Amino acid sequence: MVVVEATDVVKEYESGETVRALKGVNFEIEAGEFVAIVGPSGSGKSTLLNLVGLLDTPTSGTVRVAGEDIEDHSDRERTSVRKSVVGFVFQSYYLIPTLTALENVVVPCLLDRNPAEAEQRAVDLLERVGLGDRLDHYPDELSGGQKQRVAIARSLINEPDVLLTDEPTGNLDRETGERVLDEFDRVTDEGVAVVTVTHDEYVASFADRVLHLVDGELGTDAPSVEAVGGGVFE
Ligand code: ADP
Ligand code: MG
Repeated sequence: MVVVEATDVVKEYESGETVRALKGVNFEIEAGEFVAIVGPSGSGKSTLLNLVGLLDTPTSGTVRVAGEDIEDHSDRERTSVRKSVVGFVFQSYYLIPTLTALENVVVPCLLDRNPAEAEQRAVDLLERVGLGDRLDHYPDELSGGQKQRVAIARSLINEPDVLLTDEPTGNLDRETGERVLDEFDRVTDEGVAVVTVTHDEYVASFADRVLHLVDGELGTDAPSVEAVGGGVFE
């Protein structure tokens, strides 16, 4: 099943002059796929991630995520679609320092009708990422890898179709990074597509598929093993 469908996507920014950040890209991502987006700085990776995350809309072309094209939606509808179909994990975690691990995971559900159910889901997710014994710890009582796993649990609380991550292992040592990657692997086993922006060949080597962005254009898809072998990307 296709969960992300990008067709002739152009993104231009107007800031005095026009910057053409994406020059007409086409790709699809399947449920349960782990896709890495690689490319030099300024090649359009964050722009692409923002579009797939329904945080922004293309200048022309379409981006559908789980069948939704937000182009014609109001801001409020967009927020609601985004909440139900995408999850985000960033390098800097964005955990709230005054909340425990459990409370941080529950945050996206604060306005839900059934808080007890949300809390149970959060406990389950934290157990799944190996933090069942850290529910009441505050972020500054957790290691970098543990914080990242709290962020992953939080990103999954609304059962997204797509999980988006920007340099998810950037602050982590190799071993901790590997555990985070294993976590993503488990997420894809449940049918969630994981899309990661990375500079790290090691992360890309974990991906089912690598999308190479160069100057706003996508190169041909290559299996990650070949890409690493060829040393094609940064
Ligand atoms: P990457 O994440 O690969 O480094 P970006 O998607 O952040 O690349 O940026 C792609 C291009 O678009 C760059 O030339 C960047 O300067 C430009 N750009 C990104 N965001 C904006 C913005 N809000 N306004 C103007 N130009 C932007
Ligand atoms: Mg970027």
